[in-house]
Amino acid sequence: MRLIRLGFLLSAGLLAGFVEAREYRYSDAHLHYVDFFQESAGMDVLLQRMDEAGVDHVMFSGIPVAKKWHEDEPKRPRYYAGDDAAAYWYSATDVLIAHAYKQVPEAQRYRFHPFLSGFNPNDKNSDSHIRRMLELDPGLWQGIGEIFTRHDDLTSLIEGSTPRANNEAMTRVYHLAAEYDLPVMLHSNITSKRERNPLYLQEIEEPLRNHPHVRFIWAHAGTSMEIHRHQEKLDFLFDTLARMLESYPNLYVDLSWTMLRPYLTDKHGKPDPKWVELVGRYPDRFMIGSDVVGRFDSMGECMQGFDRFLDALPEDVAHKVARDNFLSILPRKVQKSLPTSR
Ligand SMILES: [Zn+2]
Repeated sequence: MRLIRLGFLLSAGLLAGFVEAREYRYSDAHLHYVDFFQESAGMDVLLQRMDEAGVDHVMFSGIPVAKKWHEDEPKRPRYYAGDDAAAYWYSATDVLIAHAYKQVPEAQRYRFHPFLSGFNPNDKNSDSHIRRMLELDPGLWQGIGEIFTRHDDLTSLIEGSTPRANNEAMTRVYHLAAEYDLPVMLHSNITSKRERNPLYLQEIEEPLRNHPHVRFIWAHAGTSMEIHRHQEKLDFLFDTLARMLESYPNLYVDLSWTMLRPYLTDKHGKPDPKWVELVGRYPDRFMIGSDVVGRFDSMGECMQGFDRFLDALPEDVAHKVARDNFLSILPRKVQKSLPTSR
C-alpha cells in the first residue's frame, strides 16, 4: 500500500513538473537565407538547425541589397557597416531564394514561407517587377519583405536616395500586396540614432492607415541595435506601440532581438510586466524571429532566448507568439494548405 502511494505521489509529482515546463515550437518570423554578400551556409545546415531548435516554420527571405567590395577598401568587408563602400539593390536575391526553396525536399516545403524582397523601394516600376516575379513562379511567394527603408547607416550606404515606407513606389507595392493577399514586412526605423522622439514614425503610420487590407509586419517595432547604441532605450516606444496596435488592426509586430532586450526583458532576462500585459492584450499581433543572416548556428539560441518572456504569458498566448501568429498572417490560400498539425 505504502509503495503504491509512493508510486502515485512520484508520478503525480513528475506529471506536475512536466506540465509546468512548457515546450515551445517556433516559427522564425524573420530569417534571411543569405547575407549582405548574398552568401549562405546552405539549405542542409538550415534544415538541421531548424530541427535542433524546434523551429517548425520560417519566413524565408533574401537580402534586398548587396554590399560592394570596392577597390578603395583595404580588405573585403564582412558586413554592410564594415567600411565605406556602398550597397545596391539586388533583385537576384529572390532568384537565390526561389532556387533554394525548390531544393527543399517536397515533404518539408510547407515549413518554408518565401518572401520576395529584391526590388528598389524608390522605383515606381517596382510593383511591375514584383508582379512579373509572382507570375514567373505562381504560388511560390507568400509575402513581401523584409523591405529596407530607414535602416541605420545602411540607409545612407544604399546607392540612390533614401527610401521611405510612405513613398509613391511603396504605395503601388501595397496595392499589389492587397491584390495577392501577401503580408508585407517592413524595416522602418522609428527614429534616427540621435533624435529622442519618433522622428520617422509618420512614414510607417501613413501606410498602416491608408492600406487597412494589407497585413504589415513591423520589423523590431522600428528599433535597432544602432539606435540603442546611442540611446539605450526609447522611452516613447511602449506608449507609441500601444496606441498603434489599438488604431491599426493590420499592424503585426516582429519582436526579434532588439525588442527582446531592452524592452521585453531586462539585462538579467527578467520579463517586464508592462510588455507582458501588452502582448497579452493583443494575443494575435506579435511574433518572434532570429533575424539570422546567411548563417544559422545561432538560431536555437535566438529563439529560445524568448522562452522566459513567453513563460510569463498565458500559455495559449505564448504558443501563438512562439509559432502560430506568423502562420496566421500568411495568404489565406497558404494557411488552408498547411497540414492540420502544422
Ligand atoms: Zn532582418
